Amino acid sequence: MTSLLVRNAHVLVTMDGEEIADGGLYAEDGWIVAVGQSDDIPANADTVVDLSGHIVLPGLVNTHHHLFQTLTRAVPAAQDTGLFAWLTALYPIWARMTPDHVRVSTRLGLAELALSGATTVFDHQYLWPHGASIDDQFEGADGLQIRFDVSRGSMSLGESAGGLPPDSVVEDEDRILEATKDAVSRHHDPSPGSMRRVVVAPCSPFTVTDGLMTESATLARELGVRLHTHLAETADEEEFCLARFGRRPVEHMESLGWVGEDVWYAHAVHVADDEVARMGRSGTGVAHCPTSNMRLASGMAPVTRYLASGVPVGIGVDGSASNDSSHLLAEARQALLLNRLAVSPGVGEGDLISARATLALATIGGAAVLGRPEVGRLAPGAAADLIAIDLDRIEYAGALHDPVAATVLCAPVRIDHSWVGGRPLVVDGQVDGVDLGSLVETHNRLARSLFD
Ligand SMILES: [Zn+2]
Repeated sequence: MTSLLVRNAHVLVTMDGEEIADGGLYAEDGWIVAVGQSDDIPANADTVVDLSGHIVLPGLVNTHHHLFQTLTRAVPAAQDTGLFAWLTALYPIWARMTPDHVRVSTRLGLAELALSGATTVFDHQYLWPHGASIDDQFEGADGLQIRFDVSRGSMSLGESAGGLPPDSVVEDEDRILEATKDAVSRHHDPSPGSMRRVVVAPCSPFTVTDGLMTESATLARELGVRLHTHLAETADEEEFCLARFGRRPVEHMESLGWVGEDVWYAHAVHVADDEVARMGRSGTGVAHCPTSNMRLASGMAPVTRYLASGVPVGIGVDGSASNDSSHLLAEARQALLLNRLAVSPGVGEGDLISARATLALATIGGAAVLGRPEVGRLAPGAAADLIAIDLDRIEYAGALHDPVAATVLCAPVRIDHSWVGGRPLVVDGQVDGVDLGSLVETHNRLARSLFD
């Protein structure tokens, strides 16, 4: 048995409704046993950490990302376009990736996310050129104490068949289904507190066929894994769906069996009120990606309506080429700001979302979306996934009236420490086991090679 004790935190936020001054927690074998004031929890453990002057939060959960896109941030041809032109500018560049690109970009993106407070990350990879496979992603995450859910994503509807991507980046559907089955059998650990899971995630209605959508759902349910896709991201997509299927995106996915507590959509921006209500009834979740939606001028997701209708909502950084960063605290701040803009005069109506409600999206909300009820809160029986931020810093100067709100309202910071399953992920502002200098250098070399 190994045990962890953190104590003396300025404030510990459980996300179960409590903010504990002089807080601490005690965990055994990766699971929280006690949470409370430092004097009220066990006094000894194998590892004891004094977190005086720090705020402690549950580890943050990222519900949508494309780690490979860290290689193509700020690409000039894709800076000032909407989604479809952005994709068509980038597909040929992504088509040059090798297993090395996938492995190194995965590691770099995970490190960047970890430094911003992530302890659980879902990545949506849907493009496998030159023999790249899901193995390269798991290899990239090797040795990192981060919970990592990876999709065996796919694209099968090339340009010649009426899809958006060039034929060179789409795959044969039988091969996709075989590779998905293989990925689940070799990498998916369904147990609570699992460190590695596999998700079935065809890319979007305009990049795969209906047949593959349906077969993917059947396969995922046979294998007991979750289902994810991009949906209702832009007005272009809605037009595509109406023209090709005669249905709006959400209606179309409903007709293919893509609803339920095992399904979540990325973006879900252009969704009508009756569709929101049906998503709430079926428990279909949403990865809310505010930066990407602003960067590509896609629109504003109806987040307050989702929450009022009982739709599970988490935050997704969605990157990194439609965000150009992988920072979860920054994304939480964007979620707060965009959802306030959404209820401003002349735009919409409703209550202003609070900093605490936004933190809930980034923690328990994301946990619900990923089907990981053991993370996102600090309570006995939950996983010992926590982050700590030193409050004595310029970004929080003058904000200590409310350190909890400061984490969202003030400029996004790098966290100082995190633990996942009671073991260190970030130590003194560094990702444990990662030489960041050499990782950035290798990553930059590989990014350049895509343009040679
Ligand atoms: Zn995406």
